Amino acid sequence: MGIKHDVLSVMRNWAPEDTAESWDNVGLQVDTLRDIDRIALVLELNLDTWDVLQQYNYDFIISHHPLIFKPFRSVGYDDWSHQVLRELIKKDIGFYVSHTNLDRASDGVTDVLMRQFELDIIEQTDIVNGYGKLVSVSKPIDIIDIEDKVPVLAKIVPDQLEIQKVALCGGSGKSFTQDVIDHGADLYITGELGYHDMQALRQQKVAVMLLGHYQSEAFVLDAIQQRLDHLDVDIDIVK
Ligand SMILES: [Zn+2]
Repeated sequence: MGIKHDVLSVMRNWAPEDTAESWDNVGLQVDTLRDIDRIALVLELNLDTWDVLQQYNYDFIISHHPLIFKPFRSVGYDDWSHQVLRELIKKDIGFYVSHTNLDRASDGVTDVLMRQFELDIIEQTDIVNGYGKLVSVSKPIDIIDIEDKVPVLAKIVPDQLEIQKVALCGGSGKSFTQDVIDHGADLYITGELGYHDMQALRQQKVAVMLLGHYQSEAFVLDAIQQRLDHLDVDIDIVK
């Protein structure tokens, strides 16, 4: 029982693990029996974030992206993910992942991103199968009204753009490009798209705001912190 149990139940109630994609790997990737006083929240555990994390005494790490993703038969020294995994086990630090289950969770990655734009929403649905959001706003907006809310890395703005329907997808929105077009969205806000996705959207006069994969997802760390705030544990976001 204890804090680990409470943390896991908050995360699992919010974003049930069995709602993750079948190709994904989520859940408790490294278990620990130690008492949990300090938790770190990261989008990804890699050699860079580990560099920061190891300077503090975290007992447990919650990450959006998995550390253990593809199955492996041995643990070596060359692969960066194996290097980090060794460190976690050596220091007995627990590691939990909430990935595609958090993407599609209510109040998950895309919902939290959507909130940043303070849209006056009158109607909303998923783009497809629980992923992304497609919202209609109460009155047409100009891209100038919302492009300052979150830093934009790249954008496409068709002539005479009037935005009534906005599609949003935190992280990579590549796989939903055609759905966004089919739904008749006027603007697609997402973290990441390929060149050909951008071209397809441009040809259909759909405006695009590209935020960067990391930047579009980072807001969810604040949401995780708020969800765990009532627990008697220190929680830091490590970006
Ligand atoms: Zn992601």
